[in-house]
Order: sequence, then C-alpha cells, then structure tokens
Amino acid sequence: MSSTYILVAGDARISALVAAAPGATTAVVVGTRAVADAVATSGVGSVVWLGEPGDAPLEAFAGPVADLVAAAAPDVVLASTRPADRVLAGAVAARLGAPVHTMASKVEVHDGAAEVTRAVFGGIARQTLRTAGPVVVVVDGGTLGEGGSAPVEEVAAAPAPTVRVVETRAAERTQVDLGRAQRIVAVGRGLKAQEDVAVVEGLAAVLGAETACSRPLAEGVGWFTKDRYVGVTGQHVQPDLYVALGISGQLQHTVGARAAGTVVAVNTDASCPYFAEADYCVVGDLYAIAGALTDALR
Ligand SMILES: Cc1cc2nc3c(=O)[nH]c(=O)nc-3n(C[C@H](O)[C@H](O)[C@H](O)COP(=O)(O)OP(=O)(O)OC[C@H]3O[C@@H](n4cnc5c(N)ncnc54)[C@H](O)[C@@H]3O)c2cc1C
Repeated sequence: MSSTYILVAGDARISALVAAAPGATTAVVVGTRAVADAVATSGVGSVVWLGEPGDAPLEAFAGPVADLVAAAAPDVVLASTRPADRVLAGAVAARLGAPVHTMASKVEVHDGAAEVTRAVFGGIARQTLRTAGPVVVVVDGGTLGEGGSAPVEEVAAAPAPTVRVVETRAAERTQVDLGRAQRIVAVGRGLKAQEDVAVVEGLAAVLGAETACSRPLAEGVGWFTKDRYVGVTGQHVQPDLYVALGISGQLQHTVGARAAGTVVAVNTDASCPYFAEADYCVVGDLYAIAGALTDALR
C-alpha cells in the first residue's frame, strides 16, 4: 500500500493535503502540542510530534525530519504552500536529494512511483511527472480538517546547532497593489538607464496609471521594487489598459497581463513576440512614443 508523509510547520490547516495524499498518511509536526493535537483530528493516520522550534529556524529541523522520512520511505512527502511549510519542505528535500514539485493539482502512486500533475507556464499548461524515489510535493494546505483521532507520538528532535537566526527585519514594502490598478504602464529592457524611469512615470501620470516592469528591471537591475514586476513569478494584473514599453513579450511576462482589457505594445522590433497578442502594436522607440503620448495627453 502506498503511503504519504505530511510535513507541518506550525499550522494545522491541512485538509487539502489530507485529501490529496495517496495511501496511509503520517503527519510530522514541528510546532506546538496544540498544533499536533489539531493535526491528529484532521483525518491523518498518525502524527509524529517533534516539539516546538523555539528560537531555532525551521531549517534546523531538516535533519531529524529527513531521517524520519528516509526511515519510513513513503511514496510521497507533501507540504503546504505556506511560507513556513515551504521552508521546511525545501530543507528536507535537500537532505533527501529529492525533487520538489510545486503548483501540484493531483498526486497519485502507480507501481511504486509518484505521479504528480502540476501547472506550468503560469497555469496555461499542465504537466504530469513520474518520479521513482523520494519526492516532495507542495500543494495548497486547505483548512482545519475534521476526522478521526490519530495517535500522537512524541519524538525528541534536537535542532541543528549550526543554523541560528541572527537577525529578523520586516520586509521593505511599498503600497502598490497592481492587481487593482485600472491602467498600467509597464516597461522592459528597452529602457536604457535608471534615470529614464521618469519617462515611464511621466506617461503613467497623465494616464492616471501605475507603473510596472518586466522581471529583469526589478530582479536584475533593481530600478523598480519587486512588487512591480508582472508575470508568472510576479504580479498578475487585470487593468483596462496595459501599455508595454520595450518589453519583448516572453510568455513568462505576458501570462501576468493576460487578463488586461486592452494591451498596447511599443517596440522597435516589428517581429517581437508581444505583437502577436497585443491589441495595438506600435513599432518605434519607446522614448519617442512615450514622450509624444505624454505631450498629446497633457
Ligand atoms: C522561471 C522564469 C520565470 C520568469 N518570470 C518572469 C516574470 O514573472 N516576469 C517577467 O517579466 N519575466 C520573467 N522571466 C523572464 C522572461 O523570460 C524574460 O527574460 C523577460 O520577461 C524579458 O524582459 P524584457 O521583455 O524586458 O527584456 P527583453 O526580452 O530583453 O526585451 C527587450 C525589448 O525591448 C525592445 N527595445 C529595445 N530598445 C527599445 C526602444 N528604445 N524602444 C522600444 N523597444 C525597445 C527590444 O526590441 C526587445 O523586444 C522569467 C524567466 C524564467 C526563466
């Protein structure tokens, strides 16, 4: 019979994990006893409670959790998409040398191998992967489950002393919520210099739009904050108007703006991929076009 280990890092809302798990389920909990007890009534077969992490980061429990998983050799290890669970799952996968599959919608076991169906390219396609050997799968956690009363086994686990938290700081955030913006002027690597962001801001101002960018401008050169890049790993936006200046139109970007009403792409390259899906395609220099549009609208 197939079996699944569910990793729980302090949050007992695992109903979707239990529903997705093939075979017999064991939950491994790093967290309070209350969390372990709540997990025990969520429909799992058994619970192993490793205690509270205290000041130790979750990564410090990767060794003990991986040892438990390796000894039991389940077909699948499941974790939720919540940040803490992903941290633990990633560290455990590294210890096990196991692949991590994200965006999973279905997990099955056939002939002793895990088969995972997952969304790819921002959800426009699906892929089914078959993995022999240990595999870690990340799915939505769900809510508090109801069902049964599994035994809770307490196992003393010492966190690795080599990993410790030396500083915790609040993340730098801006107030932008691109998901609610009615109009967006986005720019890509067609922009030549950081001071030229003013050109984009000028057009956005007269349009009453938010500014946004492709990933290289946020993750690469850092001319925009990371909450302003659109795409598969960035923001998904749905404005009435999306102006894309000097953005080539790679799938990883356009997926994030597919829900836009009208897309205007400006590019010097008449064969750029964005022109295949934009509503209005302007062949030209973004500086000249943005400047002329700003003047005209003003
Ligand atoms: C796993 C993964 C996830 C990714 N996720 C994202 C994501 O979420 N969002 C994202 O944006 N990217 C993402 N990327 C990167 C993506 O594949 C592209 O590399 C990126 O979108 C390209 O950005 P760009 O269009 O600005 O740059 P380029 O592809 O370099 O295009 C620049 C464009 O500017 C044009 N241009 C140059 N000068 C001018 C000018 N003066 N006037 C007008 N046009 C000009 C050029 O003709 C060109 O078409 C991801 C990549 C990977 C591998």
